[in-house]
Amino acid sequence: MAIGPPVLAFDASDAGWFDKPMRWAQLTLVENDPGRFDPAFWLDYFKRTHADAACLSAGGVVAYYPTEVPLHHRSSWLGNGDPFGDLLAGCRKLGMVAIARTDPHATHQNVYDAHPDWIAVGADGQKRRHWASPELWVTCALGPYNFEFMTEVHGEIASRYAVDGIFGNRWSGSGMCYCEHCQRNFRAASGLALPRTTDPRDPARHAYLAWHQQRLFELWRLWDGEIRKLKPQARFIANAGGGALSELDMKTVGEIAEILFADRQARQGTMPLWMNGKNAKEYRAALGRKPIGGIFSVGIEEPYRWKDSVQSEAELRAWVVEGTANGLRPWFTKFSGTLYDKRWLDRVERLYAWHHAAERYLRNERPLARVGLVYSQQTAMFYGGDRARQRVEDHTLGFYQALIEARVPFEMVHDRLLDPDRLGAFRLLILPNIACLSDRQCDQLRAFVRGGGGLIATHETSLYDDQGMRRADFGLADLFGARFAGRIDGPMRNSYLRLEHEAAGRRHPLLAGLEDAPRIINGVWRVDVTTAAAAAPSPLTLIPSYPDLPMEMVYPRTDRTDKPQVFAQQTSGGRVVYFPWDIDRVFWEVLSVDHGRLLANAVDWAANEERPVTVSGPGMLDVTIWRQKQSLTVHLVNLTNPMMMKGPIRELLPIGEQRVRIKLPDAAKPSNVQLLVANQKPRVTESSGHVDVIVPSILDHEVVAVDL
Ligand SMILES: [Zn+2]
Repeated sequence: MAIGPPVLAFDASDAGWFDKPMRWAQLTLVENDPGRFDPAFWLDYFKRTHADAACLSAGGVVAYYPTEVPLHHRSSWLGNGDPFGDLLAGCRKLGMVAIARTDPHATHQNVYDAHPDWIAVGADGQKRRHWASPELWVTCALGPYNFEFMTEVHGEIASRYAVDGIFGNRWSGSGMCYCEHCQRNFRAASGLALPRTTDPRDPARHAYLAWHQQRLFELWRLWDGEIRKLKPQARFIANAGGGALSELDMKTVGEIAEILFADRQARQGTMPLWMNGKNAKEYRAALGRKPIGGIFSVGIEEPYRWKDSVQSEAELRAWVVEGTANGLRPWFTKFSGTLYDKRWLDRVERLYAWHHAAERYLRNERPLARVGLVYSQQTAMFYGGDRARQRVEDHTLGFYQALIEARVPFEMVHDRLLDPDRLGAFRLLILPNIACLSDRQCDQLRAFVRGGGGLIATHETSLYDDQGMRRADFGLADLFGARFAGRIDGPMRNSYLRLEHEAAGRRHPLLAGLEDAPRIINGVWRVDVTTAAAAAPSPLTLIPSYPDLPMEMVYPRTDRTDKPQVFAQQTSGGRVVYFPWDIDRVFWEVLSVDHGRLLANAVDWAANEERPVTVSGPGMLDVTIWRQKQSLTVHLVNLTNPMMMKGPIRELLPIGEQRVRIKLPDAAKPSNVQLLVANQKPRVTESSGHVDVIVPSILDHEVVAVDL
C-alpha cells in the first residue's frame, strides 16, 4: 500500500528554529501539580542548566491550561490558573524555544459515556480500561478521538499560545485495536477483517501492517498541517522512530520530520552501555543532518517504572555522553513538578554546563565514519515477525559490539536509503542478516560494490524479497560467490571451523591474529551453500557437529570438509565478505574472542583503506569522529566498566593512555588541538596528513578537538 507524498518540503530560505536548541528540558506535570509546584524554581533551573529549549505539559489526558474544548479534561487542581501558559511565558523570557506536550493515549469516564466508540477495543471485543490507572480508558489512536478531538485540542493550543510545536507522546496507540472504526476502515482499505494473528505471512496481518502505518502518517500530517496553519514555524513532533524493531517507516519519518527526539530514557535489563549511541545512529540514518534530541530519564527505567526515582550519577553520565558522542542533543525529562528526590539536579547541571562550554565543537556538520551498518525494518516486519528480536536484532547487536570492540567509527544505514547520494560517504556496508531486500535494493548494493565499496553480509542476507517471500537463490549471489543450496542447518551443537591458513597459498588477512589456531567454534545456524565456479579458496571450512555426550563419544566424525564457511571476494570494484552462518548473532550470545577477531578482520580487509581515526590503548571505547564548520572532533567514550553489559554503573573507572591518530581531510591544517573534557592541551605530533594526539587518561568521556 503506497504511503502518500510527504508534506511540503522544508523551505531552506527560512531555516526555522529547529537547529538552534542544543539542550532540552522537559517538565511533565502531574494532575495535582497546579497550585502546588513552584514554576519559578523550574525556570531558574532551566536557566542554570543553560537549557535553550523546553517541552511543557499542555493537554491530552489532562489539560494544564483553561481549555474550552468540550470533554478536554482540565486538571482538577487547575482552579483559575494556567500553569502551562505561565511556564511558557517564563521560557520565552529566557529566550528559549518552547513546545507543548500532549498525551492522548488515555481518557476519562465522561468521554467514554459521551463517545464510547472513541475507546480502544481488545481482541476479546471488550473496551480497554487503562492498565495502570483503571479509572481511565485507553483510547483508539486511529479513529475520531485522535483525528477529530485531538485535532481540536492541538488547534486550540497552537492558536492560543506562542508555541514552536506540539510534541505528541503515546499518540500512536497502545496495541492492536478492534473498535468499530478500525474494523470498518481496515475493511474499506483492504477488503479484509482485522487480523487475529501476528504472523506476517497471514494476508490480513500483512495488509494491516501497511494500513496501520498509512493511518498513523495520515494523522501525523493532519496534526502537522493544522498546527502550521495557525503557526507557520511550528510543527507536530511525533514521539516516534528507532531501529529495525520500531513501528513507523523511518524513511518516511525522515522525510516528514524537521526535528525528532529519541525517547530511550535509560538502560534496562541487560542492555550494553553503548545503546544510546545506537539510538542516535538509527535516528540519524533517516534524518541525516536534522537535529535529534536524546531524551533521558534522571531515574531508573525498568519495567516496574519507578518514575520518581533517581539514577546513579555514573550511569546518568555514561548514558548522556554516549548520546552526545553519537550526535544526540541532550533532553532531560522529569515527571512531576513536585520533587521527591533532588539528587539529580546537580548531576544534570554539571553535564549541561560542560555541554554548554563545549557547544561550538558539538554542532556537527557530518560524521566522518566510513563504515555503515545497515538496519532493516522490512526484515524485522516480514522475516522476523514475533521473533524479530532474535532473528534480526541480535545479529545487529553482535556486529555492533564487534565494531565497538574493534574501535571502528561507524554509522547506521537504513536499507530503504541506499541511493548513491546517501552511500557516497561510505567505504564499507555491513549487512547483518538483512534477509529481506528487493531486487532494486540488491541492484543498489551491486552498484555500490561496482563503484569500489566493500560489503560484508551474514547468514540469510538477501534470501527473501522485501515482502518476505523466499527466493530460489540469494539476491546477492553474484557478489557473495555463493549459491543457496536449499537448506538452513541448525541449531548446530559442537560444530567447528577449520582455519585454512594456506588456502590461497598465503596467510589470509581474515585469519590475522589466529595464526596459532587450527580451528575455532562455529555458529549455531548455517545456510547450506554451494560455491560459484570462480570463488577463491575459503579460509574457513566446516567441521560438522559431533556428539557432545557421553564424553566417550566426543570425537570428530569428519575432520575436514570442503564446505566453505566464509567467502572473501575481490571483485573488479570493492571487496565482499559473506559468512553463511550466524557469526554476528552468536557473537552477541557467546562473545567469543575468535569471532570478534574474524569480524574485525573482515571489516579491515573489506574496507581496504586506513581508518579515519585509529585509537590504541587499553579498555573498551566507543570512537566517533565528526566534522564541524571549523573543526574536527573525535569523541572517546570510556565503556570499560564491570557494569558495561548491565547497569547501573557504580563508579566511573579511568582508563590509561590512548594514542589517537587522526587522518586530516584534504589539505587541512590543524591550528589548535585541545582535550575538551580534561581541559588541557595534549601532546601532539603532526605528520603529512595526520595528527597524532596522546590522551593521558579518560574517565567517562574525552573529546579531541582539532581546529582547522
Ligand atoms: Zn480503533
